[in-house]
Amino acid sequence: MSTDSITRKPLFNPDGDTDVVSRRLLNFNTTNINDFNNLKYTWVSDWYRQAMNNFWVPEEINLSQDKSDYPHLEEAERTAYDKILSFLVYLDSLQSCNLPNVSSYVTANEVSLCLAIQTFQECIHSQAYSYMLDSICTPTRRDEILYQWKEDEHLLRRNTYIGSLYNEFLASPDKTTFLRVCVANYILEGIYFYSGFMFFYNLGRNGKMPGSVQEIRYINRDENTHLWLFREILLELQKEEPQLFTPENIEMIKDMLREGVRQEIAWGQYVIGDKIPGLNSRMVEDYIRYLGNLRATSLGIGKLYEGYDEEPETMTWVSQYANANLVKTDFFEARSTAYAKSSAIEDDLG
Ligand code: ZN
Ligand code: ZN
Repeated sequence: MSTDSITRKPLFNPDGDTDVVSRRLLNFNTTNINDFNNLKYTWVSDWYRQAMNNFWVPEEINLSQDKSDYPHLEEAERTAYDKILSFLVYLDSLQSCNLPNVSSYVTANEVSLCLAIQTFQECIHSQAYSYMLDSICTPTRRDEILYQWKEDEHLLRRNTYIGSLYNEFLASPDKTTFLRVCVANYILEGIYFYSGFMFFYNLGRNGKMPGSVQEIRYINRDENTHLWLFREILLELQKEEPQLFTPENIEMIKDMLREGVRQEIAWGQYVIGDKIPGLNSRMVEDYIRYLGNLRATSLGIGKLYEGYDEEPETMTWVSQYANANLVKTDFFEARSTAYAKSSAIEDDLG
């Protein structure tokens, strides 16, 4: 067995190792028994609590204003809405399908447990998009939006790139492809959603599509915890598998991040560009590069770009919207005792 090999974890494994201290993300002889009283990775209990507190139900957000706003959006806004939603639909569908593949090689059962909760949340996100589409569109338009990659080559290229990285791990699982699929997840959660988020929040500050904005804020809050989870996985890998973090591989991770940033900026400029009131290409580029730097430094691998250290002043409203627990709305006030209980949100890992 080469040092880069990984084995899919066994299901029933009576001879598994019950020692918490020797538990590892990869190649540990796990019993698969979940035990919240003996966690090796102490961040799991905070993560779990936060994820549980974030529980929400898409249909409890009222979309009646969105239904009447949608036909009256400016043409460019409606096109952007459709394309962005189509991309988000793809991302969440792919996540719910692929996370179990990643998890089937994770031998630290408490981390697998987090990935299962993440998978559940990605399903809720898909349900939110379906509810949004069902509320604002005709069935025909709904299908056109869901499968827009059939018509839109830019979208197809993006989806293909992301899908190929995930397929690479499926086709030849080893420690290096595991590292790459984790970085790909980290980029998806921490960069790919953000042109979309900023577009929706911009609609929100212009008083349009308030229900969609609210759905997106809940999704954003969940994606923040997913980003947190993959950052922790990558940081644990640095400790447990230090041989993976050669200068070449660190450069590979930075290249993947730079490519993710490049694609997200190109996509943002394609769907938003200078056609949407309140946003422009420059704002998209500055914000996504800033996020790229934040994601890289959060992994302890240095910056990607000179400058871009602070959130651009023109974009501070994005993080205000993104912090779903800070800004009280009718919805939160009405529901605050039922869920949305958590008082702190892991805000962008800043
Ligand atoms: Zn999601
Ligand atoms: Zn996610």
